[in-house]
Amino acid sequence: MKRLWNFSAGPAVLPEAVLSQAAAEMLDWHGSGMSVMEMSHRGPQFMEILQSALEDFRELLNIPESHKVLFMQGGAIGQNAIVPLNLLKGFNSAAFVKSGSWSAKTIKEFARYGRADVVAEAREIKDDSGVRAANTYVPSIAPGSISPGSAYLHYCGNETIDGVEFKHIPDMHSLGAAHVPLVCDASSNILSRPMDVASHGLIYGGAQKNIGPAGLTFVIVREDQLDRALDVCPSAFNYRTVYDNHSMYNTPPTYAIYIAGLVFKWLKDMGGLPVVAELNRKKAQMLYEAIDGSALYVNRVRHADRSLMNVPFQLREEALNAEFLSLAQERGLTQLKGHKSVGGMRASIYNAMPIEGVEALVDFMLTFEKERA
Ligand SMILES: *Cc1c(COP(=O)(O)O)cnc(C)c1O
Repeated sequence: MKRLWNFSAGPAVLPEAVLSQAAAEMLDWHGSGMSVMEMSHRGPQFMEILQSALEDFRELLNIPESHKVLFMQGGAIGQNAIVPLNLLKGFNSAAFVKSGSWSAKTIKEFARYGRADVVAEAREIKDDSGVRAANTYVPSIAPGSISPGSAYLHYCGNETIDGVEFKHIPDMHSLGAAHVPLVCDASSNILSRPMDVASHGLIYGGAQKNIGPAGLTFVIVREDQLDRALDVCPSAFNYRTVYDNHSMYNTPPTYAIYIAGLVFKWLKDMGGLPVVAELNRKKAQMLYEAIDGSALYVNRVRHADRSLMNVPFQLREEALNAEFLSLAQERGLTQLKGHKSVGGMRASIYNAMPIEGVEALVDFMLTFEKERA
């Protein structure tokens, strides 16, 4: 068996220990005589799997009692519509931070439901060498710019495509909007470090970046946000309905929940999010140092806002892109091609990417530069 170092942005690498355990339990889960995939979602065995996944997720993120966890489907792009359907009752606008490609998509979808007020937007700016680049920093929100009538303020905690990450959450008090709920798309940095859940009204994301298989969507919602849905909100997507039915109003993505549960246990065994965060910091630092120290590679994101999960970089000699990718593949380093909107390369180094994988990448990059450039 040969496994590659997989730098995909999502669906992404999973911990090998989790995959091995899932393989061992595939045909007969804990003496049940069946695979988790074949179980009734209402049977005692799956209920136990769901319950412990929920509890471990809460424990890892230190989620306060005031906040409920829902497991849904439809991904973060689904939530771009599901959030307004659930939070717009009595409102006609919401505020947004436009920090990159994913938040831009969220804003576009929202416009079908209400008026999107963009209260901060990353501009295209020139870097040190005069190259213009878009989405290279977290734009700041001017105090007083959030309309008091906003249903919520939305931001994308980590722009997966652009490699821009919020290191501090918007402080709604100092922005003069303490009563406006804060909503976060945390698809690609959830569980990468401890998070201030209590300050949010809602946090959501797809599982396939840093949690588990595609198909599962997590929603962390403060209790007072459960009853703000528009009448047209589909029942299967109504937070109150999903909550009252313990994430079982419709059949949940059972196998994805099972794998997510194994990942949560794996994170707990590592020592929880403070330990995970330290490891992630080390991995990212190693990669950014290699980029910054090189004459061939460049990352144009403002240092303080650089993502610890997704590291885009360009080759200053773009003609070398194809060769870089094919030699990387030969070395067992895969999925390094950048998103088409940004070009160049992108290395996603989620929780499940071992430090050895990052070392192998850095080693390859240095060798490639020495030999080709
Ligand atoms: C991947 C991603 C999405 C899209 O997720 P889907 O599961 O495809 O809907 C949205 N937002 C962010 C930040 C992402 O990383």
